[in-house]
Amino acid sequence: MKILRTQTLRGPNYWSIRRDKLIVMRLDLEDLAEKPSNEIPGFYEGLIDVLPSLVEHYCSPGYRGGFFERVRTGTYMGHIIEHIALELQELAGTPVGFGRTRSTSTPGVYNVVFEYVDEQAGRYAGRAAVRLCQSIVDTGTYPKEELAQDLADLRDLCNNASLGPSTETIVKEAQARNIPWLLLSARAMVQLGYGVHQKRIQATLSSFSGILAVELACDKEGTKTILKDGGIPVPRGTVIQYLDELSAAIEEVGGFPIVIKPLDGNHGRGISIDVKTQQEAEEAYDLASAASKTRSVIVERYYKGSDHRILVINGKVAAVAERIPAHVVGDGRSTIEELIEITNQDPNRGDGHANVLTKITIDKTALNVLEKQGYELTSILAHGEIAYLRATANLSTGGIAVDRTDEIHPENVWIAQRVAKLIGLDIAGIDVVTEDIRKPLKEVDGVIVEVNAAPGFRMHVAPSRGLPRNIAAPVIDMLFPPGTPSRVPILAITGTNGKTTTSRLISHICRQTGKVVGFTTTDGVYIDDYLVEKGDNTGPYSASMILKDPTVEIAVLETARGGILRSGLAFNQCDVGVVLNVAADHLGIGDIDTIEQMAKVKSVVAEVVSAEGYAVLNADDPLTVSMAEKVKGRVAYFSMSPDNPIIHDHIRRGGMAAIYENGYLSILEGEWTLRIEEAVNIPVTMQGMAPFMIANALAACLATFVQGIDIELIRQGVRTFKPSVAQTPGRMNLFDLGHHHALIDYAHNPAGYEAVGGFVGNWSGEKVGVVGGPGDRRDDDLILLGKLSALMFDRIIVKEDNDTRGRRRGEVADLILRGISEENASLRPEVILDETEALEKALSTVSEGGLVVIFPESVTQAINLIEKHRPLTDNQG
Ligand code: ATP
Ligand code: ATP
Ligand code: MG
Ligand code: MG
Repeated sequence: MKILRTQTLRGPNYWSIRRDKLIVMRLDLEDLAEKPSNEIPGFYEGLIDVLPSLVEHYCSPGYRGGFFERVRTGTYMGHIIEHIALELQELAGTPVGFGRTRSTSTPGVYNVVFEYVDEQAGRYAGRAAVRLCQSIVDTGTYPKEELAQDLADLRDLCNNASLGPSTETIVKEAQARNIPWLLLSARAMVQLGYGVHQKRIQATLSSFSGILAVELACDKEGTKTILKDGGIPVPRGTVIQYLDELSAAIEEVGGFPIVIKPLDGNHGRGISIDVKTQQEAEEAYDLASAASKTRSVIVERYYKGSDHRILVINGKVAAVAERIPAHVVGDGRSTIEELIEITNQDPNRGDGHANVLTKITIDKTALNVLEKQGYELTSILAHGEIAYLRATANLSTGGIAVDRTDEIHPENVWIAQRVAKLIGLDIAGIDVVTEDIRKPLKEVDGVIVEVNAAPGFRMHVAPSRGLPRNIAAPVIDMLFPPGTPSRVPILAITGTNGKTTTSRLISHICRQTGKVVGFTTTDGVYIDDYLVEKGDNTGPYSASMILKDPTVEIAVLETARGGILRSGLAFNQCDVGVVLNVAADHLGIGDIDTIEQMAKVKSVVAEVVSAEGYAVLNADDPLTVSMAEKVKGRVAYFSMSPDNPIIHDHIRRGGMAAIYENGYLSILEGEWTLRIEEAVNIPVTMQGMAPFMIANALAACLATFVQGIDIELIRQGVRTFKPSVAQTPGRMNLFDLGHHHALIDYAHNPAGYEAVGGFVGNWSGEKVGVVGGPGDRRDDDLILLGKLSALMFDRIIVKEDNDTRGRRRGEVADLILRGISEENASLRPEVILDETEALEKALSTVSEGGLVVIFPESVTQAINLIEKHRPLTDNQG
């Protein structure tokens, strides 16, 4: 077996709309192509032995053990690998379920598709599945150690890639509210919402966390001073920089016991608590000084009690937890070291912040703390006896948390909320030392020791004891108060032909509203009519660029086949999904061999239309019409003919449509006809002479109309949009050269040629074509281009693209010539392979009043050349 290609899909795609995180592995089964599993001796037994948990896969039989049944009676290796890739991820702790395996038109080559949670782990699981299967085929088994290693690697990949517990809870809450999110490429920042409505978070810092507040919170002394000035109880303390200031400082805070900590520390590093003697104090000083960047040390009175964290979000207490330092509880038999090991076996304990709890580590600090309590690692604790391994209660050093949200005294709630305001933090973790959070701090001599910006959420979301609290909810309420939008309207446009033109026209109409429009097309990414990035930008990367842009108010996204197949859509829902047409082009590429398969690719855009949105479909194209079945939202149709039965039917049922009637582009809303404009006044239709442009304009009018744009603005938009070199380079650019005209058009498939033919047919003078075709199309397609040219032109010059896309020079021209002579043997086509020469020849020989049509490889080059002939106008009017 050989993996030919691995693709990672990250959004709605050909295989699934909802299960959108998929690995697609193109697999050549080689010698196993002709061998189903029942014909491989020992394979079934080997697989059961290696991965017995596959018994849970129901597969097509639909019952437990169903998949094993398939293996026993005979199924192909691609299908087996799909199930193994899923199971390996499952065993590594990431739940996945969706898979598909399909043959391709190449015998023995399959597309194996399976879900992932982490994409690196997904790709790894695919490779491991192939390895595992091959090994069972060759040797009857797969070594246990290998499998263990695979699973360990998979777990590592997932842990390293995961968002972190706090971020993840916020993202989950956003998802539950249908607020989109995306990971930004730097600083682990997460964007919630799209375009102008976006907010950001980074762990538990938010777009609203002010820099002054965050810096103040990081400055413990400054924090204490501000709080003290506000009458908030804080520890009595002072800051020193030299050892010889220590004694005076101890006196100043009222003598032992004291606490010594670095001025600028965190995670409990360098802190000594309950220091009782001068010698301890000196050691503690060294520790703290070493942990401080500025060598500054805080000396504070020690307050009795336990550590509490009060989480304040957007001015309100959201949760309270009591934190208990890392400890073990005796069982009367085990040593402390053994107890630590037992405690660490808790699956909730991981390394660092990756898990709900952190493992307890035995280090110098732990030994010191034990020694202070009179224990050693080998001490055996009595039943119920507690030994602490840390003096401070940080979860990251193995502490646990107990929820106290329902117990906090109202006065303490009031204090905490004031504290958050005094510091200025939107999300604040307030550390309180008190013996009893149920009593007012003043009554029990409790103090606020610190205020944390970016407090961790896991102690509240997953306390070791007590109720878990949904503290992500108030965060999202703050970022997106009920009733505020998080999304910008997305209008996505797909189809075989006319995407760019229609996307540009839609953007132009949307611009009439005065809003900032971001749009992507084959020639670039634009925001507000400025070019952001040049190039073919019809995939998810460009779409994200628009959705990430903080100025964009409406997104118009040309969405081409290539991007959908390569990685899926960048968005999982859109407001308007336009499908213009499905014609034969790009067939035979990317395992899409039939026009029906191509229709399925394009229907992804229609299928992601939200329940409140509209799919705008071409009623004149049966493949497009059939997409309506799968649309979750509403459907609106456009048609060139008022007599189209689909339209009739749709309107009768109160639906929405756009048609071309009596020379007008009109919207039909139930019984009513709203005329937008006469085609002759819509420049893009070339005075109504280019039927396909009328169709594109109908789609654009309908898409913007269902999006709620005023019909006046739509009219203004279609009137002012010109098929000029500036607005639609290469799309029906007609140049008046005085003696004759020239038309540049980027048609590159049969449907495009036919469309242009519809316009050329309306021309009265001589019609000269300069034609060629992209080399990566099938022979038959190129022959067809020749035939269509023969139908369209009086005279033809055949040229070739510079980039022959893998063909021998002259091969494309030969195929086109064949098509021409098959259609009309009396035409005497000329062959000039060089595009520029061919065009020059056509321009210099065309008769007066004639039309030269060129389908160029490079639009800019052709435009430059024609502009050298000093046109009177191009059709910018
Ligand atoms: P973290 O990063 O977890 O917030 P930190 O390094 O910032 O820790 P502090 O919050 O100042 O350090 O102190 C850590 C813990 O030490 C406190 O939560 C509290 O339990 C204890 N502590 C600090 N100062 C005092 C004090 N004056 N009296 C009693 N306990 C204290
Ligand atoms: P690409 O796949 O290259 O991105 P596209 O779908 O974006 O193409 P446009 O760039 O708008 O399409 O148009 C390319 C050419 O396709 C036009 O110049 C014209 O020849 C032809 N065309 C445009 N609209 C239609 C249509 N509705 N039906 C058939 N052909 C069309
Ligand atoms: Mg702290
Ligand atoms: Mg395009």
